[in-house]
Amino acid sequence: MATTHKTRMLIIGSGPAGLSAAIYGARAGMQPIVVQGLQPGGQLTITTDVENYPGFRDVIQGPWLMQEMQAQAEHVGTRMMWDTILDVTMDGSPFRATGDSGDVYEGDVLVIATGAQAKWLGVPGEQELSGKGVSACATCDGFFYRGKKVVVIGGGNTAVEEALYLTNHSTDVTLIHRRDSLRAEKILQDRLHAHPNIKVLWNQKVDSFVSEDGKGLTGVKLIDTVTGEQSIALTDGAFVAIGHAPATELFKGKLELDDSGYIVVEPGTPKTAIPGVFACGDVMDHTYRQAVTAAGTGCMAALDAERFLADLDYKATQTVEA
Ligand code: NDP
Repeated sequence: MATTHKTRMLIIGSGPAGLSAAIYGARAGMQPIVVQGLQPGGQLTITTDVENYPGFRDVIQGPWLMQEMQAQAEHVGTRMMWDTILDVTMDGSPFRATGDSGDVYEGDVLVIATGAQAKWLGVPGEQELSGKGVSACATCDGFFYRGKKVVVIGGGNTAVEEALYLTNHSTDVTLIHRRDSLRAEKILQDRLHAHPNIKVLWNQKVDSFVSEDGKGLTGVKLIDTVTGEQSIALTDGAFVAIGHAPATELFKGKLELDDSGYIVVEPGTPKTAIPGVFACGDVMDHTYRQAVTAAGTGCMAALDAERFLADLDYKATQTVEA
């Protein structure tokens, strides 16, 4: 039978943003409920080595980090729910979310931490070689390609920034783009073209990712979109940088989204236009997209949620007295 779960703080999403909001929220006595969603733990659960999350001298594993965050959130009083939210009502506090299970979750504040997903090409070899030479995050994995050959696929800001970033590690970076002009901002394009260690392959579509030794990526099979000619670009690493998709389907028509579908917040805060609804992590951030920045904005959401509730409680006492 469907149940209604009530809480002061309802959090949708269980990546670093959602769980950090939960840790702070629980410690502030808000007894949070976290509805985990389709990928409990978020994007880090599909990452292997993590070397840039502060506090760990040795390389740690993404799934392990998320288990620890969840355990910490539960330890301080968070309730984790195995459910996926299918609908939300955000007319005002309390906010209601209905899960796939039929259960209803009701929160005096709502924290949206549904994250984003890197877009993938969907070509043969991509999934099989993910983590074995194929990646969607140069900041996360670029370090492993010190002194090696790398390619970046895409033609937008992300691709150009990733190519430039990778020159910190590699002296042989190739940008592969399906057209003959880039979408990236001019200043980034200028930097790219001026860089001595980056070359661009134009009009090339990725056909598949290749592993000659059956262990890791050795090359990318390309098709020239003008001539149809096929070739293989030999490489140690391939970074797919064709954009990200924020998980905001649920909020269309209910919250303001930008042109790329990210939730719009008051600059420098996790506040949405609806009082009591906060957004944190990759669902509102298309620039930084790091676990540590997501955790930071999760913390900010909890602190702002606490202030919102204190205000709500104060107003309630005033109404009773009046
Ligand atoms: P974009 O959507 O801007 O660019 C995606 C790129 O990938 C395009 O060049 C596109 O090609 C290419 N692409 C898409 N699908 C495929 C495919 N199936 N095969 C091959 N190539 C493909 O995404 P970004 O992540 O670059 O940027 C997203 C938003 O974030 C933008 O608004 C951007 O400006 C912003 N951003 C801002 C940054 C900053 O200000 N520093 C940094 C990063 C992002 P085509 O051009 O042919 O369509």
